[in-house]
Amino acid sequence: MIIDSHDTIVAIATAPGEGGIGIVRLSGAGAEKLLANYFCAAEKCPVLTSHRLYYGHFRHGGGELIDEVMAVIMRAPRSYTREDVVEVHCHGGSVVLRRIVDLFVDAGARLARPGEFTLRAFLNGRIDLTRAEAVIDVIRSRSEAACRVALGQMEGHLSRNIYQFRDKISDLLAEVEAGIDFPEEELPLADRQRLIAACSIIEEQMETLLKSFESGRLLRDGLSILIFGKPNVGKSSLMNTLLGEARTIVSDIPGTTRDTVEESLVLKGMPLRLIDTAGVRQTLDPVEVLGVQRAQAKVAGADLVLLVIDGSQPLDDDDCKALQVCDPEHTLLVLNKQDLGSCSLPVEFAALPSVSISARNVEGVDLLLDRVANFFSRDAGSEGRETTMLSDRRHREALLLARNALERFRITVTDDCPSEFGALELREALQSLGQITGETAPEEILEKIFTRFCIGK
Ligand code: GDP
Repeated sequence: MIIDSHDTIVAIATAPGEGGIGIVRLSGAGAEKLLANYFCAAEKCPVLTSHRLYYGHFRHGGGELIDEVMAVIMRAPRSYTREDVVEVHCHGGSVVLRRIVDLFVDAGARLARPGEFTLRAFLNGRIDLTRAEAVIDVIRSRSEAACRVALGQMEGHLSRNIYQFRDKISDLLAEVEAGIDFPEEELPLADRQRLIAACSIIEEQMETLLKSFESGRLLRDGLSILIFGKPNVGKSSLMNTLLGEARTIVSDIPGTTRDTVEESLVLKGMPLRLIDTAGVRQTLDPVEVLGVQRAQAKVAGADLVLLVIDGSQPLDDDDCKALQVCDPEHTLLVLNKQDLGSCSLPVEFAALPSVSISARNVEGVDLLLDRVANFFSRDAGSEGRETTMLSDRRHREALLLARNALERFRITVTDDCPSEFGALELREALQSLGQITGETAPEEILEKIFTRFCIGK
């Protein structure tokens, strides 16, 4: 049970390890009293002013010095959680931080669960669920683009859109429900046409938001790039070159990369997920067969396939097999080993966009990245600078359900079905929208969302 908001909770809010400053954070009705147990401000004052940072000493039992600290109280409701929040800024070493937390726990605070501060901010109505989810996305974002999308969501851009949908649908529902009270009277044609038109506009707006999902997802999670091709063409070498360090095994024996290896990185500002695969050559070795099958499934799931061939050798059947599983729209041909020379390409290969490189000598890699950047901007669009974007699968699914319910509502009106049927669909649409902003999100969903958080946030 995560929803247990009566205790005063405590956690270390800064990252583990040594640091200049470490912060212990408390939230709840008992926070101020807990601070008073241990903190003595240097400047004599009977009551601490809210939102003011005080210098002083943190002592155990009024005697033993734990650390020289700064402390602040942010009284409810002007705080992150809308409860009384206390922060103690001490030296950033694990012993001091641990001791301060332990003392608060001895005095009655409870250790916070992951995300519990943000959960309280949500439960106390300071932020809706999309904004709470964005907090962890901001913390986790690996590129500026991803951070920009998350910040927009945290500022409430997405929820504003969802609330507008909700208000418009509520208006439709009010109108339809008024009709339910007079079932004997048929809805005049003009009214039905007006309802249909209003509904279509909301559906279109939802559709626009749904369409932004592909770009939003790319910006948030990164472009997934599959490095693909028969054994020994230099896939692992390319992966290592791109990563700038040798993490996967590079060997002369074909087929050493048995399974897939995935790495996340940011190159030229693009968030990328690089996937190195086993070769596509048919083989009786069961370990390699498993790798091959997974690789084929991954081709279908990747945003971009880098089909690697040994450009210094004539191509063979294995290269052709590799080509066959690729979708030309999402494939970039990488002619590797250019340092050993180049052979002419069969026509089906020549049709693909291509780039020559030497993974071993790190040549042509910049050009390769420029080509990747072209794919990225083609699919990620305008990088979400202006528009509101959908980047979370959970939001997309709920919005799809809402849009489908609206479509069914429109059909009930077109077919002149009893108003109750239409009202049911509108209520379902509202229910789905509420899952996005959190009003109707069941506890399991909240649990799933907030356990993704770090402790202390
Ligand atoms: P994979 O099986 O496709 O992952 O291929 P590897 O990355 O393991 O490379 C196979 C062999 O080709 C190794 O001996 C690499 O050193 C060599 N190799 C990879 N890239 C190049 C390159 O650009 N030029 C040359 N000359 N050799 C390369």
